[in-house]
Amino acid sequence: MVNIILLGPPGAGKGTQAKRLVDERQMVQLSTGDMLREARHSGTEMGHRVSEVMDRGGLVTDEIVIGLIEENLHHDAPGGFIFDGFPRTLKQADALGAVLDRNGMSLDHVVEMQVDDAALVARITGRYTCGNCGAVYHDATKPTAKPGICDACGSSNLRRRADDNEDALKIRLMEYYKKTSPLIGYYYALGKLDTVDGLAEMDAVAAAVAKVLDRT
Ligand code: AMP
Repeated sequence: MVNIILLGPPGAGKGTQAKRLVDERQMVQLSTGDMLREARHSGTEMGHRVSEVMDRGGLVTDEIVIGLIEENLHHDAPGGFIFDGFPRTLKQADALGAVLDRNGMSLDHVVEMQVDDAALVARITGRYTCGNCGAVYHDATKPTAKPGICDACGSSNLRRRADDNEDALKIRLMEYYKKTSPLIGYYYALGKLDTVDGLAEMDAVAAAVAKVLDRT
């Protein structure tokens, strides 16, 4: 069992790699972004509260996302947990350490996925996903075989995120550099950090991530 954080700017490929690890290693993906979108979709009070800040590209409060992670750590995860899009601030990183400790768990690796900004804009603005199975597509690099139909599950429920546009992306990137990138130093100091080239082919990125995970 290996618990890891996937760290990187929006569009670095964290979600895509997390889904592969779920399929291949019986790991459980804990994506605070997915949980928040789910809360909005199901119309909870918290979902309403976070919608404006999410659409703008800002970060929701530490208390909310820390609460979401705590609620979801009880899942049975034979292969371990993948923290995807969490932590995003130093306060969240401290809270994750504490909550893992309390549950008798530890963090094994932090994988930083490096991608330059120009590539992020291209990746994000063409991105869409299947609302049914979570498969990820892209207008230019990976369209569905049949327009409007998910290759993986046949659903026609394909969606684009409200914050996958250039204005929101600018703010998301700024938030990343200001508030999240200090975590690179934080985890380096803890001896947990590994960096992979997020611009490589998807299979090559997966192989690089696997190498980190298989290191004891
Ligand atoms: P993501 O799907 O990870 O790109 O997250 C989408 C949006 O959800 C972000 O732009 C934030 O508004 C919010 N969000 C997700 N995770 C966090 C987090 N750990 N801390 C604060 N806000 C978050």
